[in-house]
Amino acid sequence: MNLTEKLFGMHGKVAAITGGARGIGAETARTLASAGAAIAILDVLVSEGRQLVEEIGMAGGKAAFWPLDVTCEDEVQRTFSKLVSQFGRLDVLVNNAGIDGPNLPTHEITLAQWQRVMDVNVNGVFLCTRYAIPHIEAAGGGSIVNLSSMYGIVGGPDVPAYHASKAAVRMMAKTDAMLYAAKNIRANSVHPGYIRTPMLEEAFRQMQRDPEASFGYMATQVPLARIGSPVDVAAGILYLVSPAGSYVTGAELVIDGGYTAR
Ligand code: NAD
Repeated sequence: MNLTEKLFGMHGKVAAITGGARGIGAETARTLASAGAAIAILDVLVSEGRQLVEEIGMAGGKAAFWPLDVTCEDEVQRTFSKLVSQFGRLDVLVNNAGIDGPNLPTHEITLAQWQRVMDVNVNGVFLCTRYAIPHIEAAGGGSIVNLSSMYGIVGGPDVPAYHASKAAVRMMAKTDAMLYAAKNIRANSVHPGYIRTPMLEEAFRQMQRDPEASFGYMATQVPLARIGSPVDVAAGILYLVSPAGSYVTGAELVIDGGYTAR
């Protein structure tokens, strides 16, 4: 076995990725599958999820799709049981499903809008973690990654519910890191900066802004002077969940082109 395989090989491991049908989640599915893991793609987007399973299979990887809304407790519990029945174990959970919510100042957001963002971005992470932990423990340990954001660390003058939700999952990873270290379960958060995905493209369209002009402006705010791509984030997630990251828990991996280094 060569050194790269020893550090980043995921053969025999099973990874569940919420929101895995597109964007950062889909790229993480491709990346972990090419490292050898079997992938459970969990998402509300059924045709995108099934298409990705086919794509990963064609590339020689192993993946299956389960439709899942991370806010539904029964569905979460059932889905984790089903995927463990099919794949035999669970080693990795990537809590990636997320929504950005309304881009309004705090005093204009309704309670229902605020709660919807918290439901998906915070309660969804709680529920998936809650029902994944016993399976990961049964596998002898493993790891959890919560997708936070650079806006889980620094403030931004927009999407207040989103920023609050991303700060919450950052701290949830640290708490779980401490709670489950003795069971050999690691928990870390990843903090992407501006990444080109359907989430941002749709947000620009909703605001009737030209996506290309908006990405161009955002790039000027980043020291590395470019927008990130999903693979930039997927590579960081692979590091955290693979043997290379085996001494890393409770950590924040910032992948933002230097934005928060100011
Ligand atoms: P995306 O919208 O392209 O993908 C998100 C995925 O989550 C979609 O497939 C969507 O269907 C799924 N999803 C949404 N609600 C769900 C639910 N209730 N149950 C199950 N699945 C659900 O977004 P993305 O940019 O790839 O974001 C992925 C994660 O990364 C999110 O948590 C996001 O907050 C975070 N993030 C993104 C950026 C960025 O710039 N794109 C920056 C920082 C953090």
